[in-house]
Amino acid sequence: MAALPVVTYGESILRKVVEPVEDFEAIEDLVPNMFDTMYEEEGIGLAANQIGVDLNVMVIDISHADENCPPSTFVNGQIIERSGSESMEEGCLSVPGVRVDVTRSEKVTFAYQDLKGNHHEAKFDGLMATVIQHEMDHLNGLLIIDHASQLDKHRIRKQLKELAS
Ligand code: ZN
Repeated sequence: MAALPVVTYGESILRKVVEPVEDFEAIEDLVPNMFDTMYEEEGIGLAANQIGVDLNVMVIDISHADENCPPSTFVNGQIIERSGSESMEEGCLSVPGVRVDVTRSEKVTFAYQDLKGNHHEAKFDGLMATVIQHEMDHLNGLLIIDHASQLDKHRIRKQLKELAS
């Protein structure tokens, strides 16, 4: 297990729709590395393409905020239902130093597979719903800056230019 460098804004893998996982044995080593990297960087979620891996895997740990939520791994996730709307200021390990208000669905129904390939479907709300949507964005090639208002985009344009250079 090892913490790996996080890919940052400007790298093309962050703009790619990742590939689905078909070989579940192949991700046995990937997932511990993703948790290590997330904890090392003090993040609460991480998508596989943030460490340069083109696969639909995310890890989330919001246990600091909600002790009923254990650390989770979601494979081949898909949001199949959404409701409500709320805004929260978000940051991202791949866009360091940048924070923007992002409006997302308040509740989501999420279909995913576990590490063994078993299928699940569950409803999430609160911070968990927000983080799932943030990580699903990554796996679809989107970043928090894509949700930014015109004003925010103007405010952060220099930071983005520096990150991409
Ligand atoms: Zn992120």
